[in-house]
Amino acid sequence: MTRERLEEIRAQLDEINLEILELLSRRAELVQEIGDLKKRKGTERFDPIREKEMLDRLVAANPGPFDDSTVRHLFKQIFQASLGLMEEEKKELLVSRKKRTEDTVIEVNGVRIGGGQPVIIAGPCSVETPEQMDAVGAGLQQHGILLLRGGAYKPRTSPYDFQGLGKKGLELIRKTADKYGMAVVSEIVSPSDIEMSLEYVDVIQIGARNMQNFELLKEAGNVRKPVLLKRGMSATIEELLFAAEYIVSRGNTEVILCERGIRTYEKATRNTLDISAVPILKQESHLPVIVDITHSTGRKDILLPIAKAALAVGADGLIVEVHPEPSVALSDAKQQLNLPQFAQWMEGLKASGYLPKQEP
Ligand code: PEP
Ligand code: MN
Repeated sequence: MTRERLEEIRAQLDEINLEILELLSRRAELVQEIGDLKKRKGTERFDPIREKEMLDRLVAANPGPFDDSTVRHLFKQIFQASLGLMEEEKKELLVSRKKRTEDTVIEVNGVRIGGGQPVIIAGPCSVETPEQMDAVGAGLQQHGILLLRGGAYKPRTSPYDFQGLGKKGLELIRKTADKYGMAVVSEIVSPSDIEMSLEYVDVIQIGARNMQNFELLKEAGNVRKPVLLKRGMSATIEELLFAAEYIVSRGNTEVILCERGIRTYEKATRNTLDISAVPILKQESHLPVIVDITHSTGRKDILLPIAKAALAVGADGLIVEVHPEPSVALSDAKQQLNLPQFAQWMEGLKASGYLPKQEP
């Protein structure tokens, strides 16, 4: 082939490319028109029967040299790109940063969650006895803790394990919190208990196992009380945000997201703390994000570095389990700090510079 001939063919190809592009653009405009018509009629954009008809017609008219499957493949790509044009703009979630650029700040008991200063939610895994709650309340008060956690309804793996004191537990944690000037953070597991819980809790906790209990999320969305929503142990970040959307879309805009570790093959920790979830959630959503350092690790010896890591990547707060006598705790005995250990942990955290000089 002479050099001239090669140049000539290349020039023709360039021309054909432009013609194809022009035809594709014309085709795209027609597709958009169909999309508008279908939108007005409310019909489904993707029509697989019509698509099959078009492909069959093209294959029947195939003059070669491409084989039929290549023709199908090429046109399928064109159809798919066209369908993309017809798709509605992606609906942004209410919890998304794209919907609201400023951080949501949730005020509980004078504590601003998501306001730039990290907060600490501390207390036992379960509410057990008046003595236990009084000891932990008094101990935490000494460190200026204003948010008291404690489960009255315990979602336990085994039905034979302690299931929590129920309403009596809520009464007890409320009494303790009132005595020591704290707010109550406690888990509710049943949609029918949400209304009743309002009298006792300042923050409704929805646990990892219930992150996709949609009826519970809807009920929590119907009330006006902050909700601490924990990430399911096998839930993606996107699924956590959708779960939060269930609550926010019902009008309850005060949702705190909580990373509490996910299930992986690693056995050194109870769960694997997904530290990258924190900056991703902060980026994707305007809601406050906290980290449960106790349930994510399931161990006491790494709580200080883990807490520092969580705050370093932008967490708005931490959850830590504290029990006056962890060895006899009715749940999570191995992972709870006793009061001297908590004091030491607080000291270490303060020294790290991540906590405000004075407790809020
Ligand atoms: C809890 O915080 O008491 C608890 C049960 O945690 P999770 O739902 O994260 O397992
Ligand atoms: Mn626990």
